[in-house]
Amino acid sequence: MTLDELNLDTSYIECLPADPQAANFPRQVHGACFSWVMPTKTSAARLLAYSADAAALLDLTDEDCASKTFSDVFSGNQLLTGSKPYATSYGGHQFGNWAGQLGDGRAINLCSVVNQRGESWTLQLKGAGPTPYSRTADGYAVLRSSLREFLCSEAMFYLRVPTTRALSLMTTGDTVVRDVLYNGNPQPEQSAVVCRLAPSFTRFGHFQYYAEQSLELLKVFTDYTIQSSFPHLGAPDKACYIRWFNEVCESSCDMVVEWMRVGFVHGVMNTDNMSILGLTIDYGPYGWLEAYDPSWTPNTTDANDHRYAFSQQAKITHWNLYQLANAIYPLIEETEGLELALRNFAERYARQWLLMMNNKLGFVTTQHEDEDRQLVEQLLAFFAVYETDMTIFFRRLAKLDPAGELDFEEVVQQLSPAFYEETMPEAIQQTLRDWLQNYWQRCQQASATASERRELMNKTNPKYVLRNYLAQQAIEMSEQGDQSLLHELLAVLKSPYDEQPEKEHFNQKRPDWAKHKVGCSMLSCSS
Ligand code: AMP
Ligand code: MG
Repeated sequence: MTLDELNLDTSYIECLPADPQAANFPRQVHGACFSWVMPTKTSAARLLAYSADAAALLDLTDEDCASKTFSDVFSGNQLLTGSKPYATSYGGHQFGNWAGQLGDGRAINLCSVVNQRGESWTLQLKGAGPTPYSRTADGYAVLRSSLREFLCSEAMFYLRVPTTRALSLMTTGDTVVRDVLYNGNPQPEQSAVVCRLAPSFTRFGHFQYYAEQSLELLKVFTDYTIQSSFPHLGAPDKACYIRWFNEVCESSCDMVVEWMRVGFVHGVMNTDNMSILGLTIDYGPYGWLEAYDPSWTPNTTDANDHRYAFSQQAKITHWNLYQLANAIYPLIEETEGLELALRNFAERYARQWLLMMNNKLGFVTTQHEDEDRQLVEQLLAFFAVYETDMTIFFRRLAKLDPAGELDFEEVVQQLSPAFYEETMPEAIQQTLRDWLQNYWQRCQQASATASERRELMNKTNPKYVLRNYLAQQAIEMSEQGDQSLLHELLAVLKSPYDEQPEKEHFNQKRPDWAKHKVGCSMLSCSS
């Protein structure tokens, strides 16, 4: 399949109402789901990286990706035959407050493609210029935030976390001005375009915005969403809407459990950044836990409230689902089914989270719920008093042999690369010793063999994640024209559960220099 032969799926633009205004200027759009908009041409587009596995979703080969057409299309300079680009309207609650119309302010959907397996993938450029939804901003994206989105989308996919995909990362040859920390220091920076792929980019905020306008618009959009993305739920009616909402609750829940498993903090869980498919979407000021700290957020805008901190993510997902329930209520006019789904979310999360944490410890199932929960909580209490890198800790824990007597000194030696401090105070040693003793006991009770336990741990606990400082190093090199680290990280993060002994240096806790460096632990929105 070459780029010209792609099989387009035009149902979105055919089934949903379009904004009749064709000119591209910022405005409020009512009574329509999208506006036609052309990507802005770039002066000297250059492909920095692409994901061969994402390209395969479109049946494209390496040769296709190396072609000039590929660079032209995915920088926004050329349209595929039949492509009619558009930006969608949506709203959202930002940091808990209703923000009204937001919309694709710097995202342009090129088209949807049906691949040889019959799957439909929407191709969306991020940073390809202004749209009617750009409000006061410019519609562009800088290289640093685009590289972060490109790498992290693919890293998350290989970690088995539901996510939108990234096909390509392109520099444009143009610059945009950004004030990195909003502190009055605007600088010109290289701009870039990422092409993202997802079966659908629909967000909770779409339903919220249409519900605010009319029952009719809400119904047309909801029915389209169900028919195109949830066909297994049957024809849309009241019972179907409830089944659908329940499924959205479940997939959102499962996504957050996976974030908690790998130590990912989204950073901006506004309702406009919540995918209706339960995919991680909109990689902005996200981050990865360094020392395990439940209250940590990488987002400078959230530095005071910690609304979107690591430990808040399930609670916030629930809050966001509640807003979605409010939006779709007029279609159902009964609260019972929606409330039940929201209650199920809380129960499902508690159960799935405990099971996931048990898997991290090497136990296939939850055995005695209370004791298992205690064992997990006791470990998290240790992390709370002694700075520990979760990723390194669990991989090292898998190497231990809890069959015999506990040799505390030896175990601490094994685990030490995960600890930020050199020497462990006496009281904390006791906390760790108590936990290890309980863990040893639990391992000895379990029916799994040592190698089964280790195998489960090593497929639950990644060895390689996109550490904040690694992404920043790749950015700094890329900005200087050196893409080697970008490519190397993409390759390493493709097999995050493999040992890859020659890549051990990507499995190190955060170096001191990165502790307070901008881009490593502090990031701002919408760059
Ligand atoms: P975000 O915080 O990235 O989820 O963005 C929130 C809203 O702001 C969305 O409607 C975005 O499309 C819009 N937005 C963010 N950055 C830009 C930009 N550079 N130009 C235009 N719109 C933007
Ligand atoms: Mg967003």
